[in-house]
Amino acid sequence: MTDPGLPPWLAAGIDHVWLPYTQMKTAPLPVPVVGTEGARILLADGRALIDGNASWWTAAHGYNHPHIRGAVIDQLQRMPHVMMGGLIHEPVCTLARRLAELLPGDLTRVFFAESGSVSVEVAMKMAIQYWINLGEVTPDAPHKTFLSFARAYHGDTFATMSLCDRDEGMHGAFRGALLPQAQLPLPVCETTKRQFTDFLEASHRTLAAVVLEPLAQGAGGMRFHDAETVRFIRAACDATGTLLIFDEIMTGFGRLGSMFAMEEAGVVPDIVTLSKALTGGTLPLSAAVASSKVAEAFLQDDPAAALMHGPTYMGNPLACAAANASLDLFAREPRLAQARAMEARFAERLAPARGLAGVVDVRAKGAIGVVEVEKLQDLAAMKARFIELGVLIRPFGDIIYLSPPLILAEEEIDRLCEAILTVAQEWSARGKLARV
Ligand SMILES: *Cc1c(COP(=O)(O)O)cnc(C)c1O
Repeated sequence: MTDPGLPPWLAAGIDHVWLPYTQMKTAPLPVPVVGTEGARILLADGRALIDGNASWWTAAHGYNHPHIRGAVIDQLQRMPHVMMGGLIHEPVCTLARRLAELLPGDLTRVFFAESGSVSVEVAMKMAIQYWINLGEVTPDAPHKTFLSFARAYHGDTFATMSLCDRDEGMHGAFRGALLPQAQLPLPVCETTKRQFTDFLEASHRTLAAVVLEPLAQGAGGMRFHDAETVRFIRAACDATGTLLIFDEIMTGFGRLGSMFAMEEAGVVPDIVTLSKALTGGTLPLSAAVASSKVAEAFLQDDPAAALMHGPTYMGNPLACAAANASLDLFAREPRLAQARAMEARFAERLAPARGLAGVVDVRAKGAIGVVEVEKLQDLAAMKARFIELGVLIRPFGDIIYLSPPLILAEEEIDRLCEAILTVAQEWSARGKLARV
């Protein structure tokens, strides 16, 4: 994988690095990056790309925001890390309190971890043990499995893989090794609604919880559903006494134009998971936040009723300082308005793609803009073409999409949309967006 024009560190190291979701034999070299600033990715060859991806939707305020950087540097000088076994520190305590205040309803008890997947695993453990702690587990009511939805994505670890879309998910190699779970289409029409309520009525005693990405399914293809669907799911869970987990790892912190999707939906889950933009894209951190109802099931004299989970780097002070600084920015800068304005601009600027051969849908929600096609061909060449055009855009599955930093200027938004139109036209003209 080496070539003489590369930075020396890349040539020396690349054959020792395992890249994510990548066939290392055939993949083109990753693009060497030497810096980031605002909404720009600075490349080793001197170019600067407008970022249409926000590093997997994390960098809500852009990169190197001085307020977050200052908070992390300050924390680094005092205490980079200390375990939470028997110890506590100000950044984690403050962040837990602020999240509890910010989240709607009584989502008030925060368990921190380092990655989104692990926070979903923790939420699953909370749900399973909730039923045990209540003394409601019997042979007829095992409360051990989960119901997730088609097109879902909840992570890459073993338990979370079992919640991802069965057919479209990217974990086919592990199919036989996964926990058996239930999966249904999202209840968006009469038939699928009946399927969902019938399933809950018949099987809610087998379930620990229902798991949903509210309003927008992310890595499963940036598909949107309406608030009514989310309310329907909550009502059906309430009617059968079923726990509901929201995975807001992607939707949380402004991506859809509200701080949390649950606010727009007007529904509160029993547990919510958060990560991605929690630290504004600076340090790894995630959280599973339980409602009082769930948390109180763990408050017993019996030590066996405690939740047995504890990541080594739990509540890392640097990450918590970054998250606290990121919340300051959400409070004092117009991030949510920026995300909402982006929705209108994406819808308008991407609309011309609608007529192209192979394009099946153009849609926008908050700071997500999507051109869905029949089939993406020559994906690697398409990614390279975007870089040639001075933008970082990472199409996957059947979508070319934008989920940029929320701070983008209008002309930057337009340049991203123009790049998508240019590339979609080129690919469409060659028949490379159509099913073969
Ligand atoms: C990214 C994501 C995850 C997994 O988070 P990681 O930090 O990659 O483990 C889980 N759920 C949703 C909805 C996500 O977008």
